[in-house]
Parts: sequence; structure tokens; C-alpha cells
Amino acid sequence: MQHPVLAANWKMNHGPTEAREFMRRYLTLSPRRNDRTVMFFPSDLAFSAAAEACRDRSDLLLGVQNIHWEDKGAFTGESSAAMARDAGARVVLVGHSERRHVFGETDAMQAKKCAAATRAGLTPVLCVGELLPQREAGQAEAVVLEQLTLGLAELSTASVASMLIAYEPVWAIGTGKTATPADASAMHAVIRTHLRGLLGEKALAVPILYGGSVSKGTAASLLAAEHVDGLLVGGASLDAEGWSSIVAT
Ligand code: PEP
Repeated sequence: MQHPVLAANWKMNHGPTEAREFMRRYLTLSPRRNDRTVMFFPSDLAFSAAAEACRDRSDLLLGVQNIHWEDKGAFTGESSAAMARDAGARVVLVGHSERRHVFGETDAMQAKKCAAATRAGLTPVLCVGELLPQREAGQAEAVVLEQLTLGLAELSTASVASMLIAYEPVWAIGTGKTATPADASAMHAVIRTHLRGLLGEKALAVPILYGGSVSKGTAASLLAAEHVDGLLVGGASLDAEGWSSIVAT
């Protein structure tokens, strides 16, 4: 059993001042641990402040919430994977449901972003998940498998073997509705089987995170579910005390 991965997605919260203050609190509450991997995804503008505040804690991984797939050019408002890597990011969220459903990003874009990330030495966390009507229509597995197939299309098997997947049912994100551990486990098993088809036994080493309204109260039971290798947490990662207790789960 690999170490659980606990990832905090701050979304568009915490500017540089709040990021510094959060880290100051978090570092006093959560000592270094060798039995879990902790990641933070601040906004691009707060990235340097967060990275600077935890520069003595090499156990904490910093990532960005989004990248463009081109290396440079006339893409106002965007940042490239190489820029994120240069700023100190090690990981990047790709295909978060808010990028897909609020900003209209397609699976083809996710494939290009995953490829750009790996070219630049960033580890992608590919997020997949179905909408509520798709779940109600019995299409959840098909949707997730299509997102996986298309999102991984431009990666070598070696790159897939060293990335992470996050299953985040869209109906559970920011809604207070969490998938049950059994629901999460069932979809994670589907994802694992797909990865096994690509990677064989190496698929067991690809962390599959669950995300969607995880709280202090639900973290332990979700983490205990089979095939759930970690958690991607939005709202409940925003205060240092709450996030520390989830990390300590
Ligand atoms: C997320 O942003 O990935 C997420 C799961 O958000 P929340 O925990 O707020 O549902």
C-alpha cells in the first residue's frame, strides 16, 4: 500500500497574504510526515508566497491549478507548463471539473495539457468525473472511461505510470454531497482496470484520488475504501486547522 496523497485545491481563494498566513499556521500544526504525500494547489498569484512560506518543508509539493498546452505565445492570461515548473511547481491539475464545465474545456485540451506537463517535467493530476444527469442515466462509467481514454491519448505509457488520476463526480464538488465510500471505490476500480489495460501491474502504483465535498468527517472512511489512494479537497482545505486534521487522518 502506497502512502496516501492529500491534495488541497484552493481554487480562486487565498491571495499571497492569506497564503503566507495559512502556511504559517499549517506548518505549526502539521509536522513533517513520511507516511503521506501532501500537495497544495494555490492560485498562480499566490504560488510564490506559498512556496516561499514552506521552502524548508521539502515534504510538501506545490502545484498549479491549470496550464496552457503551448510553451509560450500570444495567450493572454495563461501560463505554460515550463513557467509553472520554473516557478517551482511539481504537479498540475488537468481537467478539473470547473475548467471543463465553467470554462468549456474539452477532452482534447486535457490531452494536450497532460502532454505539455510531462514535457516540462510536471506531474499531471488528470481529473475525471460525471455530471448528475449522466450518473442518473447510468452513464457514469462510460463518461469517466471516455475522459480517461481521450485525456491520456498523447502520453507514453511511462508518463501514465508516473501521473495521478482524480475521480471527482461533478455533482459532489462544492455541493456538500459526497459520494459514499462504496460509490468511490466502485469507480476507482473501473479506473484501475482501465489503467491495468494500459500498464499491467504498474497500474497499481498510479494514485487514484477521490474528490468532492470531502470533509474532516468523511475523509477517514473515504481513504479506507478500496482503490482510494488519496483525496483532492477544495472547500475543506481552505482553513489551516481543518486541513491539518484531514492530513492527519
Ligand atoms: C475540488 O476542487 O477538487 C473539490 C473537490 O472541491 P470540494 O472539496 O469543495 O468539493
